[in-house]
Amino acid sequence: MDSRKWIERFAAVIDERGAELTELDRRAGDGDFGTNLRSALGRVRANLAADDPSTPDEVFTAVSTAFLNTGGTSGPLFGMWFREFAKGLGDEVSIRSLAAAAGEAEAVVRRLGGAEVGHKTMVDAMVPAAEALAAAASRGADVETALKEAAAAADAGARSTAELLAKRGRASYVGEHARGVVDPGALTVAWFFEAATAA
Ligand code: ADP
Ligand code: MG
Ligand code: MG
Repeated sequence: MDSRKWIERFAAVIDERGAELTELDRRAGDGDFGTNLRSALGRVRANLAADDPSTPDEVFTAVSTAFLNTGGTSGPLFGMWFREFAKGLGDEVSIRSLAAAAGEAEAVVRRLGGAEVGHKTMVDAMVPAAEALAAAASRGADVETALKEAAAAADAGARSTAELLAKRGRASYVGEHARGVVDPGALTVAWFFEAATAA
């Protein structure tokens, strides 16, 4: 797994489909999510160009820093999420380090944001993805297989948010109006893992 290709693919997907995220946040929030994400990924690209990182820890540090400097609720939460990947992955992506990092990362986001599974946030995709990676690691699957399973689990988790009533974030202010709307943060997490399988 080439983590730089992974992030470049993720940035390309956000370029292509960022408007869908904005539309979801418009229906269930304040409509700035796609803009926040695109500006974070602009900073990611600038960091990659400036530092030219190659190892996963350096690549994910560049990603984390970019998100931590981005506005909105999602910026700092994604920043802290990616920081755990930077801390855990070292200089090569292994299934064990990936599973451990994803577990630490979802725990950090839950702690900071106070959201649990079922609250209609990014956590609804982060937790099942981490669980899929842990299950793959415990049976000794390879990284590619594990990431495919994580992507499928994150996608199912993101889709499940449509029927939920939000308990955290701006979508919780609009109550029933957000029913039927997929949480854009959760969808982004699904796209992140899908980008790995395409990289
Ligand atoms: P804002 O609501 O400040 O405009 P963004 O539009 O940048 O924030 O991000 C919205 C996303 O942030 C939501 O789709 C959701 O996934 C996530 N989110 C919001 N609040 C929380 C929280 N408390 N914990 C985890 N994720 C959250
Ligand atoms: Mg918003
Ligand atoms: Mg906002």
